[in-house]
Parts: sequence; C-alpha cells; structure tokens
Amino acid sequence: MELKNDKYKRNRGGHSRLLDITCTKCKEHLFYYQKDGPGILKRLYLDRIFGANTNDKKLVCGNCKELLGVQYVYKKEKRLAYRLFSGAVNKKIVSKSKIYIMPGWRNW
Ligand SMILES: [Zn+2]
Repeated sequence: MELKNDKYKRNRGGHSRLLDITCTKCKEHLFYYQKDGPGILKRLYLDRIFGANTNDKKLVCGNCKELLGVQYVYKKEKRLAYRLFSGAVNKKIVSKSKIYIMPGWRNW
C-alpha cells in the first residue's frame, strides 16, 4: 500500500505515519490510519482510513459494538471525519511494508 500524498498532508508538514487502530475496550483491530503531521488523534478523516468498509454515521467496534466516534464535517477543510470519543481507540505505529490491505476493501 502507499500513503496518500496530497494538500492535506502538505498542509501538515508533509510527514505521515501509519497507525494500527484498535478498540480500547476489547482490543479488536479496527483499521489502519494515515496520520499526517504532529499532534494527538482527535479525529479520523475518512480519506485516511485504510482497510475498513464502513461509511456509517457512527464509528462502532465490529466486535464489542462500543461507540467510538461520530461522523461530522471538519469545517476548515470541508472534510468528512469521525470525532473520536476520548480514549475510545488505541493506536500503534506500524510500518507500511508490514501490512497488507485486502483487495476489494474500500479505502475512503
Ligand atoms: Zn471493541
């Protein structure tokens, strides 16, 4: 897989990391996420989520059904995102060479 390289990434300094996102409650793997620039993870832009086929208004863990976040539009960039509830997900930096996104899985 390749990380996305666009104006959003450039606006955040051009540095990105790939994160493995898991549910805090049950530890289930949710998807991978491209984090652009520094700072904590407050929201997840849908166009940076890899390996998930959800576009629901609510971000829910597929395993334990915990509600993790709610979809909204980040006004500054008119960009669809999930606003995360505090502590709802865990993240771990992963190397993109170590992961494989199944063909047919939708990336937003
Ligand atoms: Zn869960």
